[in-house]
Amino acid sequence: MTVEKIVNKLAAILGGTPENRGLISKKYSIIVVPDKNERIINKNVSGRLVLITCLLAISFVATSLYFAFGFINTTIDRKQMSNLGRENEFLSGKINELENTVHDLRSEMSTLMEKDDYIRMVFDLPPLDSELREVGIGGFTYEEPQISSELAHRTWMVEEDVEKIQRQLELENASFKNLALEIEGKRNVLDHTPTIRPTEGVLSRGFGMHNDPFTGIYQPHNGIDIAGPKGTSIYATADGIVRFAGYKTKLGNTVVIDHGNGIRTYYGHLSKFKVNKGQRVKRHDRIGEMGSSGYSTGSHLHYEVRINRRAVNPYRYILSTYIS
Ligand SMILES: [Zn+2]
Repeated sequence: MTVEKIVNKLAAILGGTPENRGLISKKYSIIVVPDKNERIINKNVSGRLVLITCLLAISFVATSLYFAFGFINTTIDRKQMSNLGRENEFLSGKINELENTVHDLRSEMSTLMEKDDYIRMVFDLPPLDSELREVGIGGFTYEEPQISSELAHRTWMVEEDVEKIQRQLELENASFKNLALEIEGKRNVLDHTPTIRPTEGVLSRGFGMHNDPFTGIYQPHNGIDIAGPKGTSIYATADGIVRFAGYKTKLGNTVVIDHGNGIRTYYGHLSKFKVNKGQRVKRHDRIGEMGSSGYSTGSHLHYEVRINRRAVNPYRYILSTYIS
């Protein structure tokens, strides 16, 4: 049936044809039947009026339904939006926490790497490849999500960081295992390498260029000074043989220990000797007492580490500085 035919049919039903009156052309009666004893109301209305009334009623109902659904939808949408907003806020906070944790982990990791480096330096082992460190061992990289959302991007970044730290941790774990084996193998070397503080006290002068307290001249200080009360115990910082226990003009009462491998340690300004020349000592053995002999302004220990006669920073040979 074509559209034209449908329209014609409708027109026939509503308006009628010459042979047959249509719905609009017909007359209708509205009869109201009240209680007994009252007159029955009988009103004649035209088909046109009925049609208009019906159309108005239908359009009123349709409009009402439309607005009612719209209102319900908006309410649901608003509720959903506020839920999503709260969810977003919560997730953002969580990501923030994760970002902070990752930040802390990163700094812990770099401390761990520094310790690794120092141990390798002290034991004369090759350092870890810096490139390898950047990427760690194996692993894969997450693909950035194709969503243009700040939250999604941040999540992805955190995921990446965590994965990287995980890989670095595995690498460091492997490195430390390897170091433990190497050091075990170098046990003898380790025993003869200075690794501890020679005494208790306060670091009063560091290694390097300083003004000499006597001459005022700016010159190198070949060791570190640790100040403390007279009589404080001084300990050998590694196994070795006492090469010298006597008086030196500047350093006063001095003990020099030979640890082999070209390493010697010097302990100056002592008030008492607890060892003699030629004696074998172990790390932590008491070798003397703190004092102020020689060129000294107060009770302190002057401690030197020499490698092949050259003074180096003794702090590099106090492992607790790095490993705590
Ligand atoms: Zn000194």
